[in-house]
Amino acid sequence: MSENLVRVRFAPSPTGYLHVGGARTALFNWLYARNQQGVFVLRIEDTDRERSTAASLDAIIRGLEWLGLDWDEGPGKGGPCGPYAQSERLPVYRAALRELQDRDRVYRCFCSDEELERRMQAAKDEGRAWDGYDGHCRRLPAAQIAAYEAAGRPACWRLRTPPTGVTFWYDIVVGKREFQNEVITDRVVVKADGFPTYNFAVVVDDHTMGITHVLRGDDHVSNTPFQLMIYDALGWTPPKFGHMPMILGPDRKRLSKRHGAVSVEEFRDQGIIPQAMVNYLALLGWSIGASGDEVMTSEGLIKKFSLKKVNSSPAAFDYDKLEHINSQHLKRMDPDHRRALALPILAARGWSYDPAWQVPGASDQHTYVDRLLALLGGRFSSLRTLPDQLVFFFREDFPVDAEAWRQQVAGAAGRERLAALAEAMDRALPADRPAGAAAYEEVVRELAERSQLAAGELIHPARVALTGQGRSAGIFEVMEALGRPRVVGRLRRAAG
Ligand code: GLU
Repeated sequence: MSENLVRVRFAPSPTGYLHVGGARTALFNWLYARNQQGVFVLRIEDTDRERSTAASLDAIIRGLEWLGLDWDEGPGKGGPCGPYAQSERLPVYRAALRELQDRDRVYRCFCSDEELERRMQAAKDEGRAWDGYDGHCRRLPAAQIAAYEAAGRPACWRLRTPPTGVTFWYDIVVGKREFQNEVITDRVVVKADGFPTYNFAVVVDDHTMGITHVLRGDDHVSNTPFQLMIYDALGWTPPKFGHMPMILGPDRKRLSKRHGAVSVEEFRDQGIIPQAMVNYLALLGWSIGASGDEVMTSEGLIKKFSLKKVNSSPAAFDYDKLEHINSQHLKRMDPDHRRALALPILAARGWSYDPAWQVPGASDQHTYVDRLLALLGGRFSSLRTLPDQLVFFFREDFPVDAEAWRQQVAGAAGRERLAALAEAMDRALPADRPAGAAAYEEVVRELAERSQLAAGELIHPARVALTGQGRSAGIFEVMEALGRPRVVGRLRRAAG
């Protein structure tokens, strides 16, 4: 592995879905790797056999794929440092443990859970501090060790941590961090069942996988000094560390389900598109600078990304801003892409084009949907609201705004005007070929003039009759996209 090559990793534990916090960690590692032409490794931390599930692993992989965060080495890809699931790396941990044993940097601990519990309780009762372990087996006489071994008493391995001094590192995100060694207890590195603990496996993996930068959530800050001690005990150079602040909810408490969606797949199901999710997560915790446009593609983000600009203070998740970024991406998308997003949403409702509608320029579902999306223009801002925006183009039982109906249609004047308009259209527009917006407009203006009405006095009731709404895209374009048979039919129906 080349000395200067950046190698970063995302190391999820498959014990749940892909949370936006995890997705942001993955994204920042990915952006850094791509920006530096480095390598992005996906490593599965599944040593917690009870909590790890295949379903969770699938969900995490699906989430990463949906976001477009492709990894260079890892599950499904392989690579020179595999295997990439910790459960398959036990021999690697065993070798590292042997190294620690040879260097006399670990000792066996025979304390049972009950004994630890009892001593913790005693410390509490006597008002003494208890920070996880009291070093009991560190001082065990050789004869006692031999006796325990002969009796086959289960034992884990603990690191001999330095009792005095300080451990520090220069964190890329939060600056210098320093811990007094006396507060770091002799934590377990290998459990009695032979499985490594999280801290040990992470260090061994990051080292053997040549990881140069560990970028992760700041919930791991308290693990870092102990991990540095493991590096030291093994005689290895540690990577650089960068701990990103957690994501808060709008109330500035840790983001959780109570605030709304938290898993990447929930956002997908709510109509957020992956480009927007990536863009928003990048903005969350990264000061792009006031100058630039915040709406960026992944390519743009890669170009601009810099670890120096990662914020050290927590960012609050802003659901409205995500919606806004989402709408901006939808607006800027090319027509093919917009259509590809819309078609499955319409198909799921069974809505499709009927040639009997006689819409100019439409011959099938594709061409019709293209027409509708062009008509919506920038108002197509969310996948979730799209069906509501398009329902009246596909169905006769579209919802009707009761207030708009009461104001524009329900009175005698409204009904009379709609009846007159229906007749004028039926007479003026040829029944055998599609009519364009200009033809509808001409009929409306001509009738308005003849009846001494303002054009709006025909247009407003017509809009409610045709769309169910008091507002819509340009009404003549809407008429064109509905087609003559439906326009005349709906006007007549509304006239009663
Ligand atoms: N597996 C750990 C987690 O999911 C991440 C470990 C790390 O990044 O060092 O929280």
